[in-house]
Amino acid sequence: MKPTTTIIGAGIVGMSTAAFLQRAGHDVTIIDRVGPGEGCSFGNAGGVAFAEIMPTVHPGVFRKLPGWLMDPLGPLTIRWGYLPKALPWFLSAARNTTPARVEEIVQARAALGMRVVSDFETLLGDAGRKDLLVYRETLRLFDDEAQFRAEAAERDTKKRHGFPCEIYSGDQVREMEPAVGKNVIRGASHGGWYFVLNPEGVVKAIAKTVVANGGKIIADDVRGIVHQDGKVTALTLAGGGRHPVENLVVCAGAYSHLLARQLGERVLLEAERGYHIVLPDSGVSISRSLTYARTPGAATPMEMGLRLAGTDEFAGLEAEPNYARADNLFHVFKKVLPGLQPPNERATRWMGRRPGTPDSLPVIGRSRTMSNVVYGFGHGHMGLTWGPTTGRLVSEILSNKTPNMNMDVFRVNRF
Ligand SMILES: Cc1cc2nc3c(=O)[nH]c(=O)nc-3n(C[C@H](O)[C@H](O)[C@H](O)COP(=O)(O)OP(=O)(O)OC[C@H]3O[C@@H](n4cnc5c(N)ncnc54)[C@H](O)[C@@H]3O)c2cc1C
Repeated sequence: MKPTTTIIGAGIVGMSTAAFLQRAGHDVTIIDRVGPGEGCSFGNAGGVAFAEIMPTVHPGVFRKLPGWLMDPLGPLTIRWGYLPKALPWFLSAARNTTPARVEEIVQARAALGMRVVSDFETLLGDAGRKDLLVYRETLRLFDDEAQFRAEAAERDTKKRHGFPCEIYSGDQVREMEPAVGKNVIRGASHGGWYFVLNPEGVVKAIAKTVVANGGKIIADDVRGIVHQDGKVTALTLAGGGRHPVENLVVCAGAYSHLLARQLGERVLLEAERGYHIVLPDSGVSISRSLTYARTPGAATPMEMGLRLAGTDEFAGLEAEPNYARADNLFHVFKKVLPGLQPPNERATRWMGRRPGTPDSLPVIGRSRTMSNVVYGFGHGHMGLTWGPTTGRLVSEILSNKTPNMNMDVFRVNRF
């Protein structure tokens, strides 16, 4: 008899988990209220950013916070009415910025990044869509020498962990990417940061393979988790059905803590809401993903046009999107891509909820309250990158293999 496993969530993490579990001999069913890759995994910046080992919140970020918070369209905003709810998360994030803790987080992120490319290749290879991954190093742009120097420590950290960053003059940058403006005086590679041509397409390609191999995708909303004697036995669905469970994996992105809570586990998870604008008629041609040191975010050439993506907004799961933040990304990148044309009627805007933990590490591992539940969520700014690797790790855990890395840092009961 094959083991059967139910996965809640058909984003990059859930679908990668389904694919690796199938490879390990499981019958899989995925339940999601939207289609594969239509949650946060739909609209990210496409960065396969395996060398991005610094935590999202680190002492350097805290120094920039006051300036950012003054600007309602800036890289980070908090809707003030929401602050009391988010406060425990921010306090925990602050506690995670001590040098010792940052080093621990960096090590965990570096370990997670090690097999990202081979895990992507496995899944995209199975799907016959390796063409979606572009092996071209992202370029970071600087228009200010002080900003360039300020990131020296970060580049050293990456180097120390085996991800060296090449440095380029402004002219070398323009040789690589002629669309970059003359104000850019420096460039740096990220020590390994590729990109995909269509993040939603990646998830849908994996989903197609999973279904072709006998997997089932159910379109429904998981409302309740039924458990007995330390084991989940069934899920209740909004459509009225009851889905029996042998093993359960929770990959529900920014909603995962709501499900974990039903199992008696408290997780600090915030929706770090990001935006994109896609410009099919951008007026510029770039061959790789570009980041701009003044403000977090990326400009990535994708199948559907140039995608400008980024920003972080704390407003909870349900607040209305503020698409002015998406439009503002045009003004940000116009500074380094002078030929960029303003959004026209073909431009599209999107908001997505990154599942953010206060220590910039995901939750990967067994539940401490239910013996047949494994978690895979909380990937924050790195879910596209770490999704396939998380899928492999979850499948190893459910196959009772010991993953070849320290998994304790990802445990669910650390909050
Ligand atoms: C602007 C922006 C740029 C980004 N850029 C990058 C990048 O360059 N590189 C990178 O690595 N990452 C990036 N990210 C982050 C990345 O997109 C996320 O970390 C990733 O998509 C999370 O994947 P997931 O599978 O955990 O969640 P999701 O894709 O959100 O999937 C979770 C799914 O669970 C479903 N679900 C939840 N609760 C239930 C329930 N009760 N019942 C049924 N279904 C449920 C949801 O409908 C959803 O489809 C970016 C994010 C944003 C917003």
